[in-house]
Amino acid sequence: MTSPIIDASGIVKDYGAVRALHGVSLQIGTGEFVALVGPSGCGKTTLLKILAGFEDPTGGRLEIQGRDMHGVPAASRPTRMVFQKLALFPHKTVAENIGFSLKLQKVEKAEAERRIRAMLDLMHLKPDYLERYPAQLSGGEQQRVALARALVSQPGVLLLDEPMSALDAKLKKSLQAELKKLHRELGTSFVLVTHDLEEAMMLADRICVMRSGHVVQVGTPTDIYYRPANMFVAGFIGETNFLPVTATASGEGMDVVSPLVAAGKTTIAPEHVSPSLSTNGTALLVRPETIRFVRGDAAPGEWLLDGQVEEHFIKGASTQYRIRIHGLDAAVIMDLPGSIVLPAIVGEAVRIGFDPAQAFLLSE
Ligand code: ATP
Repeated sequence: MTSPIIDASGIVKDYGAVRALHGVSLQIGTGEFVALVGPSGCGKTTLLKILAGFEDPTGGRLEIQGRDMHGVPAASRPTRMVFQKLALFPHKTVAENIGFSLKLQKVEKAEAERRIRAMLDLMHLKPDYLERYPAQLSGGEQQRVALARALVSQPGVLLLDEPMSALDAKLKKSLQAELKKLHRELGTSFVLVTHDLEEAMMLADRICVMRSGHVVQVGTPTDIYYRPANMFVAGFIGETNFLPVTATASGEGMDVVSPLVAAGKTTIAPEHVSPSLSTNGTALLVRPETIRFVRGDAAPGEWLLDGQVEEHFIKGASTQYRIRIHGLDAAVIMDLPGSIVLPAIVGEAVRIGFDPAQAFLLSE
């Protein structure tokens, strides 16, 4: 990580008897894009508000740009926040909305106008929008104005609380692409709260997964997807298959056997083993895209499972299969590229296989 612009350590937040954050520590690098994800109520928005200065922490320490933020009001921090629900001033024009913070800072008029126009340009909004009112803009345009208003004062950190959740799917995609480009061009640190895990994977340099007021894992999208700390993180991002196994430490990693795989014994390399592995409910995480139908010979080392096709779902670019395996609680999910020719039909007896060396060993 580059030098941290945000250094939060042991942040606790109580709302009366409710402890929303239980000592959260997180560092965010200068120019980094971090996404905060986790189930509803896990404390994402609370953490964002503490960074912004809209809430005071009950305990812990927050530094931004090396400065202790205790008692520093929101307006004096190098942070700006964009909310899910649009907080544009309805009776101010687009120009007045964008220029609001510049007016407070008493930026000279010609300079303010120049910066407002530059923002409009950056957000791909037409110059004649300047005199419009928010109600005369589409939802996506309003959200761009909200971004422009937050960015015009050139904050070190942009805090985004689900800014795209109210937009339709197509608009969301285009604004996501713009947000990523904007982030690259500006060099500002972005912290995004989102429910949309695909969005977090697409946009963020690192993802912070939270649960019940704790940080469970912070890592790159690849880390979070392929090397999740535990079953909670694995199940939170993407579709999962957990194959029950017993694991014993061996010289080179972990020796793993599965009661479901007749000839199954393999050694899992240390980089495919969760550092927080416990003896509780050890399982092999097998992602759906790593499983194939086996018609002829198995590949060397491949683990095989016999079952029956329970259902398939055409997703366009891919087809998802659910395979019922005898002795396994949940159906195994497979994702195969393409959907023009379907390789198996519902009810068909099938053999599926995967390379256990590509799987990941974790626990509850
Ligand atoms: P969501 O994804 O649903 O927006 P979140 O992860 O952002 O959830 P927070 O809004 O940070 O979660 O809430 C964390 C916890 O703190 C929840 O249990 C919530 O009920 C509680 N909480 C949040 N704000 C307040 C408040 N002002 N007063 C009392 N409790 C609050």
